[in-house]
Amino acid sequence: MYDHRKLGRELGLFDSDPLIGSGLPYWLPAGAAIRQALERYIAEVERRAGYQQVYSPVLGKRELYEISGHWSKYSDDMYPPMDIGGEQVVLRPSLCPHHALIYRSRAHSYRELPLRISELGGMYRSELSGVLGGLTRVRAIQLNDGHIFCSLDQVAGEVRDALELINQAYRDMGIKAVRYVLSLPSEDAQIGSPDSKYVGDPDSWAQAAGLLKDALDSAGIDYEEALGEAAFYGPKIDIQIEDAAGRESSLSTVQVDFHQPAAFNLEYIGADGNKHRPVMVHRSIVGSIERAVAHLIEVHGGAFPAWLAPVQLVVLPISDAEEKVAADVVRRAVDRGIRVELAHADEGSLGARIRENRHVPFQAVIGAREAAAGLLAIRHRDGQQVEPAPIGEALDEIRGAVDPWVRTASPSQSPSQPQAERADSNRGAL
Ligand SMILES: [Zn+2]
Repeated sequence: MYDHRKLGRELGLFDSDPLIGSGLPYWLPAGAAIRQALERYIAEVERRAGYQQVYSPVLGKRELYEISGHWSKYSDDMYPPMDIGGEQVVLRPSLCPHHALIYRSRAHSYRELPLRISELGGMYRSELSGVLGGLTRVRAIQLNDGHIFCSLDQVAGEVRDALELINQAYRDMGIKAVRYVLSLPSEDAQIGSPDSKYVGDPDSWAQAAGLLKDALDSAGIDYEEALGEAAFYGPKIDIQIEDAAGRESSLSTVQVDFHQPAAFNLEYIGADGNKHRPVMVHRSIVGSIERAVAHLIEVHGGAFPAWLAPVQLVVLPISDAEEKVAADVVRRAVDRGIRVELAHADEGSLGARIRENRHVPFQAVIGAREAAAGLLAIRHRDGQQVEPAPIGEALDEIRGAVDPWVRTASPSQSPSQPQAERADSNRGAL
């Protein structure tokens, strides 16, 4: 494994500046390309699984977090409020309260449930500067978040589906979970008492933990229990990864929450015509974008899966005579949505340029023969050589290879298909 901070600088992915502040990295173009690919991937995974994406502001009134419980149980991690014209406004510590309000903004029928909303949005954590580093501990976080509002009997299925989405994303990203943890309250938690770390009532907590256990068991997933690691509003499944130094952290999470639906008085009209309270399932497929990309860097070095690679194709003219054809290939690749670069003949010997671009998944060397015949000879970064093909054909081939969805188009390899079909039939308007 690699240290993502060192490699991030070498590959020009991200950096930081003391004038911006610690824990506030910025993304350079190559890093931004990876981040965008990941964000688009998540948006597409979610679309296929029946989520509707929303946007909500990164600020909220202090009162919002008093109602959600963050103010009393989580304020150590929050920034102090800003006083604006007598109103106290806070940088949000989570997206959940906003999503609860989005749900509450419309009346809902049981027919719309499960109602799944998701957002790639900013949240803020007041970390001390001593613990900050690279992309893993930051003060401004871009979170892949999602909330499913559903009836009690839908919870188990939704948790299982969320676990499967996480599984699918890990396969596509080429990363592995080191273990699954069921994070529960500590034994002396005294849930619901004013001094407790946890809000709600013990019965709801036990029920939520039971639902999570059932989902893990029915999915055949081995897990360990961790006492004292629950969120303040409910137990959760944490999916753990390990960094280059062997330190473990949570990337993805699935949580069952009875508290916030009650705190925000959320309702739906049931088949019996009466008002019922939905359950809120919180889930994050890849966690924070910062931590996910840090992990991808450490696992893959610079050799990212083709769909994530900052540059997917490098075009290498052997001499100045092929520069014009090379530029044409680049233009046609750009038109196909391929991230492409031209390594000009005057930038060094062919061998040196190939070495320089060794992490790029596809390399196209253009010599006099290829230029004259209008052919492209593609070389994979593992050294595999493809038969020369007409330029358009070769580029179409690459276009397919850098699209994470081409592979999942066949039914046998598309675990999310049943979800997508079901989602179409019950997708409710917000
Ligand atoms: Zn949440």
